[in-house]
Amino acid sequence: MAAKSNADYWVGFDLGATKMLAMVYSSSFDFCGKAKKKTKAYEGSKSGLNRISSAIFAALDKAGIKRDNLAGIGIGIPGLLDLEKGIVVDAPNLGWKKVRIRDSLEKKFGVPVVIINDVDAGVYGEYSMGAAKNARSVVGVFPGTGIGGGCIYEGKILRGKRNSCLEIGHIQVMPGGPLCGCGQRGCLEAVASRLSISAEAAKAAYRSDAPHLIEIAGTDLSNIRSGALAASINAGDKAIEMIVREAAAWIGVGVANIVNLLAPDVIVLGGGLVEAMPDIFQEAVEHTARQRAMAAFENSFKVTVAKLGDDATVAGAAAWAMKTVTEQNKGTP
Ligand SMILES: [Zn+2]
Repeated sequence: MAAKSNADYWVGFDLGATKMLAMVYSSSFDFCGKAKKKTKAYEGSKSGLNRISSAIFAALDKAGIKRDNLAGIGIGIPGLLDLEKGIVVDAPNLGWKKVRIRDSLEKKFGVPVVIINDVDAGVYGEYSMGAAKNARSVVGVFPGTGIGGGCIYEGKILRGKRNSCLEIGHIQVMPGGPLCGCGQRGCLEAVASRLSISAEAAKAAYRSDAPHLIEIAGTDLSNIRSGALAASINAGDKAIEMIVREAAAWIGVGVANIVNLLAPDVIVLGGGLVEAMPDIFQEAVEHTARQRAMAAFENSFKVTVAKLGDDATVAGAAAWAMKTVTEQNKGTP
């Protein structure tokens, strides 16, 4: 679908498993307004699509922008997407299968809609407005429940023919190591995600090696979140600090592999764990990555912490839609 000629506002959208966020930007990336809603994934995709539309209308209202001035919409979505056809093929976190999200929203808003993997959108956000502005090549690594990754290479999102790529969480770093959610063993995600860090931390607390953590969060995995880990380290739990540093060092091993393959100039670390403990992650990942990368690449990259926080996906989705639609327009006579 072609863009309207006099419309110059863009909506970025982050479709998360629990909440959705819509933000309106001008074409020079000035923030104009936003709206948040619960996703309520259990209500199914039809209700989900309606909730997305009403969140976008609410954001436009807040921004004081009429629908006629909207140029396009970019949506960051977790899961397997058909980027060409604009279809959510399978999003386990949402319980969505084969949902024609692009067609549905284009019909409703009358503007081009671009879908993008949520992690790619986050990296593109940091590239266009955040910690990796103007980098030639940037790799984003986001340790959370899993470990997401994405790469922007000379302004383009590195991807496969139909799907996104750079699954850094499933680089195998420990042959025969712990079982991963993907079915393999020893993936980076199985030794360095928030889940595996919390599991090790729970054991340390259970063994009475982490007196502060046991006070803050007990030994229940679901209570040992990023904030609790950071608080226990700040209070002096050395065992927990060691566990987090070890996990971050494993991420450094993964990053060294990526550096050897792609030679990015910036590595951006983001997500809840990194936000809670930015210094530990930045230091440990950088130290190991420099040690493990080939000598030729040792000083060819910098490791930095994301700047946009929760807004990275929305910002990146809007910026990517703007770039994609503008290029499409140039291509049509
Ligand atoms: Zn895996």
